[in-house]
Amino acid sequence: VVRIPTSPVLASSVISELRQIVGAAHVLIDPDVTATYRTDWTGRFHSEPLPVVRPGSTVEVQEVVALANRIGFHVVPQGGNTGLVGGSIPTKRDSVIVSTSRLQWIDEPDLLSAQIVVGAGVRLATLQHALLGTGWMFGVDLGARDSCTIGGMVATNAGGITVVRHGMMRHQVLGIEAVLGDGSVISHLNGLEKDNTGYDLDGLLTGSEGTLAVMTRVLLKLRPSQLRTATAMLGFPTVDAAVSATALIRRSVPSLESLELMLPSGIELVGSAFGWEVPEGMAGQTVLLVEVAGAEKVEDELANVCDALGTVMTADPAVALSSSARASLWRWREAHTAAIATLGVPLKLDVSLPQKEIRHFIDAVFRLPAPARPIVFGHLGDGNLHVNFPACFPKSTSEAIAAETHDLEVRVLALVSLHGGSVSAEHGVGVAKTPYLSMTRSASEIDAFRRVKRALDPLGILNPGVIVASSGD
Ligand SMILES: Cc1cc2nc3c(=O)[nH]c(=O)nc-3n(C[C@H](O)[C@H](O)[C@H](O)COP(=O)(O)OP(=O)(O)OC[C@H]3O[C@@H](n4cnc5c(N)ncnc54)[C@H](O)[C@@H]3O)c2cc1C
Repeated sequence: VVRIPTSPVLASSVISELRQIVGAAHVLIDPDVTATYRTDWTGRFHSEPLPVVRPGSTVEVQEVVALANRIGFHVVPQGGNTGLVGGSIPTKRDSVIVSTSRLQWIDEPDLLSAQIVVGAGVRLATLQHALLGTGWMFGVDLGARDSCTIGGMVATNAGGITVVRHGMMRHQVLGIEAVLGDGSVISHLNGLEKDNTGYDLDGLLTGSEGTLAVMTRVLLKLRPSQLRTATAMLGFPTVDAAVSATALIRRSVPSLESLELMLPSGIELVGSAFGWEVPEGMAGQTVLLVEVAGAEKVEDELANVCDALGTVMTADPAVALSSSARASLWRWREAHTAAIATLGVPLKLDVSLPQKEIRHFIDAVFRLPAPARPIVFGHLGDGNLHVNFPACFPKSTSEAIAAETHDLEVRVLALVSLHGGSVSAEHGVGVAKTPYLSMTRSASEIDAFRRVKRALDPLGILNPGVIVASSGD
C-alpha cells in the first residue's frame, strides 16, 4: 500500500477545513470530549488525542475523505466502538475518527419487498424497535445491540446469536451506499433481489472493516417476525456430550434459532459477578442455550428433543416461554462478556472451529499455562468460540506481562490452526489479529487483499494497519 505523506499532528488549517465541511459543532478536538471515541469497549485499545468528525450526510463524508486524499491524513470510520479487535481506534497520530453517529436515517420499511434502508449510524436496537408491529424483523441479533451500529455490523460482517437460522450480516445486505478510499461515492440501493451485473461490491465491502470505504447507508433484507419463541437451558456432564447433542438438535428442530454454549467456569463467574443464583440443575454443567422460534407450537419441538436427550442430560432442562422468563435464561449467556470485564482487561479471542474439533480444542486451551483460568463460551451452532483470559492487560502493563500475554495469544491461535479453524469467526481481524492472518489465509490471498485495497484506496487513507499491516508497520 502506498503510504500517504504524514505529519505528526494535523495542522489547524485542516481542522478549519473540516469545520467548514461538517460544521464547527461536529469537529471535536478537546481530549476530554474525544476520550470515549479513543478507547474501545474492551479498554484494551487507545489512541492519542486526535480530532473526531461527525458528518451528517454522504456528501459530507465524501468531502472529508476527499480532503484526506488532498492533504494527506488518515480516516478511521467508527460506529458504536464495540468491535473487540481494535479496528475502530486509530493507530496513527495523523488520523481523524469519522464517527457515523449522525447518519441516523431509517426509511419506511418496504413491506412488499421485505426490505429497509437505514443510515450506517443507526443502532441495532433502534432498528429492532422501529420494526416492532410491522410483522417483520431483522435477522441478526447480538449482545451489543444497544450500542453497535448497522454500519459497524456490515463492516465486520457481524454474526451473533441467530446465525444458525438467518446467517451473518452478509446474508442480510442487499445494497450499500459508501464513500470509497479515493473519495468516490458508490450507491447500489435499487432493491433488486437479483442483480447479476458485474462485481459484488456490496459483498466486498461487507467485512472490509473500514479499510476500503466508509459506508453511509445500507439496504437490508427483513425476515418474518416469529409468533412463538421458546428457550431452554440443557445441562450436560461434559463438553463432548453437549457437542454431540447438537447433531440431534439440528436434525430434529427445524425452528432452531440459537444454539449457544456455556461452560461451568463462565456460569460461575457470571453468578458471582452479578450476584445471580444459577438456574436449578445447571451449576457445574456444560450448558446449551437453545432457542426455537416459528409460527406454530415450536415448544413442542423443544420438548421432543429434550425427551430424546433425556438420559444424556444431567438434570431437567430449564424451559422458558414468556419473554421475561426467556430473558432470565439469556442473561446468563449475554452477561459473559460484561462479567469477564469486571475482572480487568481480558485477552479475547474469537475463533472458528470444525464441530468435530471443538472438544479437543477446548481441552487443549484448558491445559495451556496461563495467568488466569480461561472462560470459553460462544455460538456453538456455528462452531464459533470466544476464548477469554481475564485480566491479562492490567492498567500498569509491564513488559513481562505483555510478553506472557502475547505468548498465550500465539499458543491459542496456533491451536486453532492445528485444529483446522480460523483466527477470526465474527469479530474480524482489526489490529489484534493482523499478525496472525497468515495462519488462516494463504500468501496469495493476502496479496490479493493488498491489491483490492490499492484499487479502492490508492493512497492508503482508510484505517491503516487493519486486516493487513501497512507496509513499514
Ligand atoms: C457485549 C458484546 C457482545 C458482542 N457480541 C457479538 C456477537 O455476538 N457477534 C458479533 O459479530 N460481534 C459481537 N460483538 C462485537 C461488535 O458488537 C460487533 O463487531 C459490531 O458489529 C461492531 O459494531 P460497531 O458499530 O460498534 O463498530 P465499531 O466497533 O465502531 O467498528 C468496527 C469496525 O468497523 C468499521 N466501521 C464502523 N462503521 C463503519 C462504517 N460506517 N463504514 C465502514 N467501516 C465502519 C470500523 O472502522 C472498525 O474497523 C460484541 C461486542 C460486545 C461488546
